[in-house]
Amino acid sequence: RAKEFAEQAWCLYAPKMQEQEELKQYLINHLDEAIERHYLQVYYQPVIRTLTGRLCSAEALIRWIDPDKGMLSPGDFIPLFEEKNLSYKVDRYVIQEVTKLLRDRIENGQTVVPVSINFSRADFQMMNPLEELNQAILKNHLRRSLIHVEITESALAKDVEGLKNSIHDFRQAGYQVWMDDFGSGYSSLNYLKNFEFDEIKLDMIFMRNFDEASKTILKACVRMAKALGIHTLAEGVENKEQLDFLREIGCERIQGFYYSRPLPSNDFFKMVAEKSIEAEEWEQSKFYQE
Ligand code: C2E
Ligand code: MG
Ligand code: MG
Ligand code: MG
Repeated sequence: RAKEFAEQAWCLYAPKMQEQEELKQYLINHLDEAIERHYLQVYYQPVIRTLTGRLCSAEALIRWIDPDKGMLSPGDFIPLFEEKNLSYKVDRYVIQEVTKLLRDRIENGQTVVPVSINFSRADFQMMNPLEELNQAILKNHLRRSLIHVEITESALAKDVEGLKNSIHDFRQAGYQVWMDDFGSGYSSLNYLKNFEFDEIKLDMIFMRNFDEASKTILKACVRMAKALGIHTLAEGVENKEQLDFLREIGCERIQGFYYSRPLPSNDFFKMVAEKSIEAEEWEQSKFYQE
């Protein structure tokens, strides 16, 4: 009977599993081509200062727009590439695309905003993200204040010493470093003390399940971070109730669909230019070198 059951289960699940395996193989085989042909595209989502409602930076989020498979979100391929030690190819591409876009805009006399880039832990095995970033910044005559670095908290679980040094080096070099997805996965309050983060991004999970317990945790996190001199940002803000609460507890920045989804660069900068979201005023010249 067990065998019968196993066969039945196999029939139910096999096609789906096979499909997934095929997609994985497809993604691995086509990554280089997708990069070359720009099927990979960087989208931008605004980060908003809670008190003023003004845009203070953008997060670069990758999409794979495939001629056959359609729009793939990072959840479909980033974990796979992390596992296969290929995520560095994506992130190297993101570094190049973001810095080039910013340079082009500056050359055309258009406004730029600081952009944060996500790095996977696996990247550090295959490349030196700091070196890559420095080179791209130099090549495009940008200043380091224009790029922030996001590192996911779960990435910190492995090789704690190595990452601690990397974060230190990024900061020494003049980049802000933000801890992504704080409060999920391998959270440890100890990280706040041991790693020199400029900012923590409170995980979306607290917004998705916005109950009294989540609110209590958010409030405590913001207070604790503040006491340690670390800034806070809440991810996944979708409504006014959440925004009002975050403002009340002193969470400094927010990001979420309430303001905007991640957008292609054209749409993002159009939104900024048309002031449907007003950006902070920067002295633009502090973002680049002649
Ligand atoms: P993340 O860095 O925590 O990015 C935030 C995710 O939350 C993004 O998903 C964003 O679209 C989504 N989001 C933002 N506001 C809301 C909201 O109000 N409601 C909901 N439901 N979702 C919201 P996305 O773009 O699918 O990215 C997922 C994850 O993939 C990212 O999480 C990040 O860990 C990873 N990722 C994205 N781009 C890159 C990249 O270029 N390199 C690397 N290494 N990882 C990336
Ligand atoms: Mg992020
Ligand atoms: Mg996050
Ligand atoms: Mg994440």
